[in-house]
Amino acid sequence: MLNVKNLCKIYSPNNANVFHALTDINLHVNRGEAVILSGISGSGKSTLLSIMAAMDKPTSGEVIVDSTAISKLPDLHASAYRSHHIGFIFQHFNLLEALSVKENVALPLIPQNLDNDTISSNVATAMRLAHIDHKADANVHELSGGEKQRCAIARALVNDPKLILCDEPTANLDRENSLHFIESLRELKTLGKTIIVATHDPLFERVDFIDTTVHISDGAIRE
Ligand code: ADP
Ligand code: MG
Repeated sequence: MLNVKNLCKIYSPNNANVFHALTDINLHVNRGEAVILSGISGSGKSTLLSIMAAMDKPTSGEVIVDSTAISKLPDLHASAYRSHHIGFIFQHFNLLEALSVKENVALPLIPQNLDNDTISSNVATAMRLAHIDHKADANVHELSGGEKQRCAIARALVNDPKLILCDEPTANLDRENSLHFIESLRELKTLGKTIIVATHDPLFERVDFIDTTVHISDGAIRE
């Protein structure tokens, strides 16, 4: 489903401060698999995830999702692709605090020009799946950390994405909420989602539904 081929990312390639953030990354993920990208801070996890999410471009190499070379899409097409096919969950939740849960969850659908009934129904489904439907009308600033991450899960699900990418999703959660988050990922896997989680949280080491753990250090995959 997802193929990363000879991927390299060099920051400031035309400058004296050349930095090789990713070096010749090759990765294959099948549909429905759950993969952990593990590595210490600064190893290149977020750089790799953002290229897989079509939010950033590699210096060379490519990312192919099904038959689309998403790393080569022009920016406008990359945004459209993301809006239809990718759910992204961030460490800092990245919610709009002044809006309600259901308004935050609806945000990724805005570029799709859907009618209001379809938006409401997709938002309700995503909130139910993420177990945050009872807080639909609450403002985000009233939520606990665990509830904020559930709101972020709902937002990542609202476009019914085939690929869910998570960047340090438990870094701002206590142990109990981290375990809840891991259970939500299990449910998403049951729904057939392909899941990639960048993390150095040791709680993920004991998760039984993880198919592969890929170790990254200094921007390269270690066997
Ligand atoms: P991780 O998510 O594993 O902590 P990152 O992918 O964020 O690692 O960063 C990998 C390396 O790339 C780090 O050394 C970081 O400082 C560097 N880096 C990240 N973004 C930029 C940027 N925009 N410009 C220059 N260097 C960057
Ligand atoms: Mg990171």
